[in-house]
Amino acid sequence: MSKKQFKAESKRLLDLMIHSIYTNQEIFLRELISNASDAMDKLCYLSLTNDKVSVNRDELAIKIIVDKELNTLTISDNGIGMDSQALEDNLGVIGKSGSLTFKNDMTETEVTPNDIDIIGQFGVGFYSAFMVSESVTVISRAYGSDTAYKWVSSGEDGYTIVECEKSSFGTDIIMKLKPDTDDENYSRFLNEFTLRGLVKKYSDYIRYPIKMDVEKTRAIESNDSANDNDNAPKYETYTENETLNDMIPIWHKPKSEVTDEQYNQFYKEKFFDYEDPISRINISTEGVISYEALLFIPSRTPHNYFTKEYEKGLQLYSSGVLIMDKCSDLVPEHFRFVRGVVDSQDLSLNISREMLQQNRQLQVIGSSIEKKINRELTKMLENDREKYQEFFKHFGVQLKYGIVNEYGAHKDNLKDLILFYSSTEQKPVTLAEYISRMKEDQKVIYYACGETITKIDRLPQTELFKDKGYEVLYLTDEVDDFVMNILREINGKELKSVNSSDVIDKEDSETAQVKTKENKDLFDFMKESLSGKVKEVRISEKLKSHPVYLSSDGSISLEMEKYFAQMKSEDHMKADRILELNAQHPIFTMLKNAYENDKERAKKISEMLYQQSLLIAGFPIEDPTAYTDLLCELLGG
Ligand code: ADP
Repeated sequence: MSKKQFKAESKRLLDLMIHSIYTNQEIFLRELISNASDAMDKLCYLSLTNDKVSVNRDELAIKIIVDKELNTLTISDNGIGMDSQALEDNLGVIGKSGSLTFKNDMTETEVTPNDIDIIGQFGVGFYSAFMVSESVTVISRAYGSDTAYKWVSSGEDGYTIVECEKSSFGTDIIMKLKPDTDDENYSRFLNEFTLRGLVKKYSDYIRYPIKMDVEKTRAIESNDSANDNDNAPKYETYTENETLNDMIPIWHKPKSEVTDEQYNQFYKEKFFDYEDPISRINISTEGVISYEALLFIPSRTPHNYFTKEYEKGLQLYSSGVLIMDKCSDLVPEHFRFVRGVVDSQDLSLNISREMLQQNRQLQVIGSSIEKKINRELTKMLENDREKYQEFFKHFGVQLKYGIVNEYGAHKDNLKDLILFYSSTEQKPVTLAEYISRMKEDQKVIYYACGETITKIDRLPQTELFKDKGYEVLYLTDEVDDFVMNILREINGKELKSVNSSDVIDKEDSETAQVKTKENKDLFDFMKESLSGKVKEVRISEKLKSHPVYLSSDGSISLEMEKYFAQMKSEDHMKADRILELNAQHPIFTMLKNAYENDKERAKKISEMLYQQSLLIAGFPIEDPTAYTDLLCELLGG
């Protein structure tokens, strides 16, 4: 029989296991029990969605079988089982938990502390059996199949799969333990007391009974007391098939009985994260619909978060029985990063998937959950700003999209949760905080958009606001401009871009208008020579030391134009551009002179100023070579 080889990355994980680099060997039991429990979940789930599958939940159990003579430990389940292909696919390559990518090169054989760290944080799955075993045999029969298969491996040299006998569906994992050495005592894993302790420690909340034959003693009652000289009670030993775990899911337990570490461990294993969550929400409510939920906010965006692969949703249980893996109705789109479980005794087990989706009860639970998440985030924002900022770094954009989506339907719920960088505080602030600091004469909330904080800070049009001591919110996310447009105002305070034409004092604005009028001929000439590239040329009231900037008029801002350009949307939306000039700047005097004496030169200066305004606004200039030629020409005379 030829041996098959493990895939490269599996081999590496296996190497780590076999050589027991990771010292916490005992976790192998937790991993195998968790796999067994998953396999039974899968079977139950199948029975909900497929009429041909009927399962009696009460008969599902995990068995731990000790054979001291053969030096084997067996974990047996009557779950969904595996056919030969599944054995090949699942055990020949790295499992889901193993989808961790080693940070260093796979071909490297040396083990780094980094690897060990990863193993410690992740569940390592099935391969952990090799930490304590010299060989592992998996006998499995898939539900609904008559044929069983045996997978055998002693680790590094590959594995074999052959047909075999098995009386019922499910999987037996038989581990032949490594012989004890001076340093390592593997046989402790055959010890009842040790096994019982490990089940309690790691797998107590598994919702199927974990059974083991245990030795017990009992007193023998003697009826024949007259003939009994000896009054001492007599005992006999007997074997009892005992359930070791208390089977209460972690979310059913009172909070006081579960440690943070246990909650975090549960989260990491269940949702395949290797970092603790940044926040946890325990919910237990009774009302029209009673439910319990255990929700987690991850501490960072999952690697596939922004791909189609990432599905939002919470795991849904009905009285401890899994009925849906990712129920998307339970979390709104803007909180799609929240992971967790929801359990309600009020939901029927027999509802099919389709019906579930429309279930009104789910909507009730969903909206209650939304409120709780909102409250939790508000609490974090108020009480632990640093933590909130960290959260916001990862999921802030999601909240902002939540404001924009569905034409602002959720904006009132989310507006207090968003942060923007403040020019004066030099850190992210809420809109309410901004309002609380507004000057007496200040009517609107100012913001400026750009690529980075530094770039925005250097924008000519923000200079005046800073000078006058106004706080300006610096917006660097693409969606920000849309957020401001949807919000429009907060507590009666309008949100206005520093680019808008009506954000300045009336007096300043009138002076600028007068000056614009005075130069009407020049500006008409410029508009014409720029042949339609700008809608208007005018004197700006906002410029102080810089010569020029580009603003826009109408409902599409320059930032939106950039956004749409990036989206490569069909109808390429363009902002109406306005070239704003500084009447105090020497270049303006030069322009005026040229207009009077040399129209060709005035045309060139206009072109140069326009191109410069594009650069400042963060647009590519249309023809860089022509632009540099033009500059040289102008400098040359
Ligand atoms: P993970 O459980 O994290 O996916 P494992 O390496 O532990 O990774 O297992 C790989 C896969 O093997 C599982 O996803 C599952 O499909 C299958 N498997 C493991 N143990 C069992 C079992 N007892 N019954 C059925 N399938 C199993």
